[in-house]
Amino acid sequence: MRLAVILLLITACPLLQAADGPSTGYWSLAQAREVLDKTRHVYIDPNLGGLTAGERAAVDKLIAAGQLLHEMYLDSLHPEALSADRVLSARGRGDPQMEALGQLFYLFRGPIATTLDNRREPFLPVAPPEPGRNVYPWGIERAPLDALIERRPELAPALMSVRTVVRESSAANIDADLANLDRHPVIDVLHPGLRQRLLDLRNGDDDAPFYALPYSLRWASRMMQVYGLLNEAADAIAASDADFAAYLRQRARDLLSDNYEGGDAAWINGDFRNLNAQIGSYESYDDGLFGVRTFFSLSLLVRDAERTAAMQQAIGSIQALQDSLPQRDERQVRSRIPVGVYEVIADFGQARGTNTASILPNEADHTRKYGRIILLRGNILTNPELFADSAQIYAAAVGPEFASDYQPEGPLYRTLWHEIGHYLGVARTLDGRDLGPALSPWGDLFEELKSDLVSLFVASQLLEQGLIGETTLEAIYAAGISRVLQRVKPRREQAYQTMQLMQMNFFLQHGLLSFGPEYLELDYARYHDTVTAMLAEVLRIQENGNAAEAEAFVERYAVWDSKRHGRLAQRLRDANPYQFRMVHYRALETP
Ligand SMILES: [Zn+2]
Repeated sequence: MRLAVILLLITACPLLQAADGPSTGYWSLAQAREVLDKTRHVYIDPNLGGLTAGERAAVDKLIAAGQLLHEMYLDSLHPEALSADRVLSARGRGDPQMEALGQLFYLFRGPIATTLDNRREPFLPVAPPEPGRNVYPWGIERAPLDALIERRPELAPALMSVRTVVRESSAANIDADLANLDRHPVIDVLHPGLRQRLLDLRNGDDDAPFYALPYSLRWASRMMQVYGLLNEAADAIAASDADFAAYLRQRARDLLSDNYEGGDAAWINGDFRNLNAQIGSYESYDDGLFGVRTFFSLSLLVRDAERTAAMQQAIGSIQALQDSLPQRDERQVRSRIPVGVYEVIADFGQARGTNTASILPNEADHTRKYGRIILLRGNILTNPELFADSAQIYAAAVGPEFASDYQPEGPLYRTLWHEIGHYLGVARTLDGRDLGPALSPWGDLFEELKSDLVSLFVASQLLEQGLIGETTLEAIYAAGISRVLQRVKPRREQAYQTMQLMQMNFFLQHGLLSFGPEYLELDYARYHDTVTAMLAEVLRIQENGNAAEAEAFVERYAVWDSKRHGRLAQRLRDANPYQFRMVHYRALETP
């Protein structure tokens, strides 16, 4: 059965055509090697010796669930990703070009590569990338959806939901979705009104040219399998880790209802033993069209008990820090923040990579009711090769005088306080709106910018309170500078890199940084005041909730001067060759 399906796909697929030369749409072996030669390989191999037999069984089930979520992630990025993956796997063995392209597919999670000069282009004969990825009708622009929402505002919540795809109201689409609903009655039950809505569109009682389809139905058959696997994982650890099992069962149901409230509450406030897992769709970075839709991921983690205890000790009084921020609105923040240090076992979908930490959930009403969980990824944060890379780049930027300030505890504490920074600052606009929609599409960028600045702003207070020492303060400050160094010009849709570039330019404008004859020069005496000034601006923009004002601030500071920034970037690239990172997991035995 399986073989027959694959053969059918291969004959139907243009990828099978000859793969020589540029005209076919395949990158040549030389092109692929250009990128692969600049790729740092990171090996993830945590010690799982402390896990019980039940926990190990749960790990296997969660890995199987992760593989399915990974496939859904690939599909959500590009409509030809899954077929391309099958063809590459079938053709890869023994053919060096196809093997190299297979590695690119793994590295970039799909058929679109990032080039050395940070452009995105297909390396296989597939359609070029689209900002809306495959969670909107392929190639659509904002205008027709904006027009529909303007005319029918009651459709906005579904059309701009974090967990629906937008579909064109064609008879073929609607019929397929109705048939799928028939096959999965549980999804029908969990989405009251969905069937009627599809029928209205089908019968012409509603003329909306687009409709919203829940993720659970869009990927129904895989989602049903994930539901089963999460429940089996829960069975395996129910006796020893009741809270984690309860969370898994809750999350399994969440995935079928596309409402994560139950699972989020169980996740944030549960008291777990050794394992933890981020499961589902949370982050909207991949939605280049509206910045609202979230993408699938699964991170499987094992707790580092010693480091977790040390981190929790270093936190101190959160409310005092909140009260010290340069903002108008007074706000009570949570005193108990669930922070843990973990070793990554495996990452799937959007979470795959060298991300150093997460704080979730993002949905404002869940955050308000339940708080957020902070997961620091210890074996990424303290990976010796990755630290050596960033230390080398830092030394090339600031020169020998300042190079030794950059120490491993710098990124560790900066990351901790970046994540806690998401708990602090402005919760809503002064007139009570959620920040993301108010600042769309700049909401993520400002939230990350705020957290970066908070992590640097609080450092001097942590020193005064004796929670950190002088050398850690210097290391945090060095990590703050290291963070803003760019080796390629960011694309505007790269929220993190863009807000890092903005910090660099603000630091330059305020004399914290300056371009010296050879290196970037640093004036530590201006550090705190400069960070405070930028943080005050960012908090004010968040309070005002005016997207035009946010955009003007981005335009003002996300400036790239090909001479000054470009030359520095070139020097940093010369200092360290790695522009890409490919993560391999022992638990998956990936290539
Ligand atoms: Zn963040």
